Amino acid sequence: MAKNPRDNIITLPNPHLRQRSKKIGLITPEVRKLIASMEAAVKDWDKSREHEVTVAFAAVQIDKLYRVIIVRDDFEHKTPARYSALINPVVVKVEGDIERDYEGCLSIQHIYGHVPRHNKVRIKALDINGKEVRVKAEGFLARVLQHEIDHMNGRLFIDHIKDDPQAFFKLKSDGHLEQLDYEKDVRDNRLLW
Ligand SMILES: [Zn+2]
Repeated sequence: MAKNPRDNIITLPNPHLRQRSKKIGLITPEVRKLIASMEAAVKDWDKSREHEVTVAFAAVQIDKLYRVIIVRDDFEHKTPARYSALINPVVVKVEGDIERDYEGCLSIQHIYGHVPRHNKVRIKALDINGKEVRVKAEGFLARVLQHEIDHMNGRLFIDHIKDDPQAFFKLKSDGHLEQLDYEKDVRDNRLLW
């Protein structure tokens, strides 16, 4: 049977998720191909899910350890799915208050976290044409960008909440989140740490 694009997505405990991704030098046709593969994986994964839409994705999640992320252009609507690529993204500055909100990750199956993040961030990156772009983001987009840039450095959302028994959730089949038992399901879970 043909492999689905979503089968390229790696999940914990794959140790590559804990490694630093490499900077892109030149934006070659291979980099464009990588971005196309990332989009294909995300679109295919979304098709398989009823309650979730992928808002962003990092190259390491298809086991390509390069500093490339894609971010969905429209968070509100499920179609059409369009993405912008950010190459070598770096946080220039984090600002604002620390806010908590829910986060999931295609590379951490079945777990959601209530994760504290700065609510404003400034980043810079290259676009697909190699032009420098600067993004000043607030709220949910600021959260998403911090999550993805963490991926470049082998950091995952669970690392921000690992000592917080109240912060771990799972998605029920009806689309609601239910708190996980920290002692039983989280703290000593060898698949996570
Ligand atoms: Zn993620």
